[in-house]
Amino acid sequence: MNSSRIPGFYNMSVEQRRELLKDNFHLSPEEWNDLYVKEPLSTATADKMIENVIGTFQLPLGLGLNFLINGKEYIVPMAVEEASIIASASHIAKIVRSAGGFQTEATERVMIGQIQVIGCSDFQAAKQALLEAKDSLIQAANAAYPSIVARGGGAQDMDVRILNEEADSTYNQMLVMHMYINTCDAMGANIINTMVESIAPIVEEITGGKVYLRILSNYADECLARAHCVIPPALLATGEFSGEEVRDGVIHAFEFASSDPYRAVTHNKGIMNGIDPVVIATGNDWRAVEAGAHAYAARNGSYGSMTTWSKDEAGNLVGEIELPMAIGTVGGATRVHPLAKLSLSMMHIESAKELAQVIVAVGLAQNLGALKALATDGIQKGHMALHSRSVAIAAGATGEMVDIIAEQLIEQKEIRVGKAKELVEQYTK
Ligand code: NDP
Repeated sequence: MNSSRIPGFYNMSVEQRRELLKDNFHLSPEEWNDLYVKEPLSTATADKMIENVIGTFQLPLGLGLNFLINGKEYIVPMAVEEASIIASASHIAKIVRSAGGFQTEATERVMIGQIQVIGCSDFQAAKQALLEAKDSLIQAANAAYPSIVARGGGAQDMDVRILNEEADSTYNQMLVMHMYINTCDAMGANIINTMVESIAPIVEEITGGKVYLRILSNYADECLARAHCVIPPALLATGEFSGEEVRDGVIHAFEFASSDPYRAVTHNKGIMNGIDPVVIATGNDWRAVEAGAHAYAARNGSYGSMTTWSKDEAGNLVGEIELPMAIGTVGGATRVHPLAKLSLSMMHIESAKELAQVIVAVGLAQNLGALKALATDGIQKGHMALHSRSVAIAAGATGEMVDIIAEQLIEQKEIRVGKAKELVEQYTK
């Protein structure tokens, strides 16, 4: 696909969309075939993935369009049940591409493994001893997972903290060792956990204490991705609102989120509306990404916005996002779920670093979509119109009846299940 712009995609049938993609993406017939089969993730495979399986649970898979990121076109697969998310992300991506697209970057993919040590007779001496043994501990961790070292990753650094040294309970006093591990293109949980478990006996020997927890931290603040966009106000004008009014409304909305946790949580939920669907579509662990993102939003001591919106000297709207992004393009379900494999292939993603950058760009777009709507018409006008089909289905509409009932709900400005039930009854009489 040369461009992520596909005019009229929204109005095509599912079959037409699939045919268009098939003609333009050079993917294997097997990969495409997974879109057509009734059960892309077979119950047999699912039964190997988790316990007590009784079936699989499906979500709609759609495409976020128009994304231009660092000059590269991206069609972004998004797995999500909520109406209006993909439309909004694609709408904002179209505006941002007219302004040159998103600029993104990512740090090295360094994740953190934690080891908790309790019961040291002298915590300061134990800390010192661990730091002196740094090189041999790193070597031992790498010996437990040589294949990641061969890929150019592995344990690279470590540090040690003492928590609650002055506390009077031995439950509180502890030494925590962090091992910094480059997990290359994997999210890395299993790599990290294997490494920290393997060196725990050495840590006990060095410190004279007892090791309890040995596990990665989902607060992946050494594995960050950033996105940035600059939008001239003229591109933001909508209905009776001037671009300057929209820009200022977005900045006021950001200031609200950065000053009030009640608003920040909802603001950030809107960002995760964009992030989670891509994380899910690519077979990644969305709980890990969610946990890290929200913790990072509180890194300054109080919970705030995951994005910032401001005005530059030329009056442009400037948006930025920076988040931990513990995702992978290998490992976990990324290569097990057939549609996750297809999603990664469709994006032409070459590394986890690249995927992390696409994900935060979608988060930034999603945030602007919500703030732009909130600062102008309010969110319900666009959202409820798109939600009307789900309301019709919830009321029992099927087949062609769904669109007919949905349209009647919009026309009568009553998009609720009770009303939809009345209409379904009338239709089926
Ligand atoms: P896996 O263990 O499934 O796979 C990672 C493996 O992929 C590597 O060990 C490596 O093995 C192989 N690999 C192939 N190519 C590459 C490459 N380019 N870069 C890196 N590795 C490569 O996955 P993870 O360790 O990433 O673990 C992720 C899973 O762990 C997720 O399913 C997550 O849900 C789960 N998990 C999460 C936890 C948490 O978040 N707290 C806790 C525990 C589990 P080799 O070198 O041998 O080929």
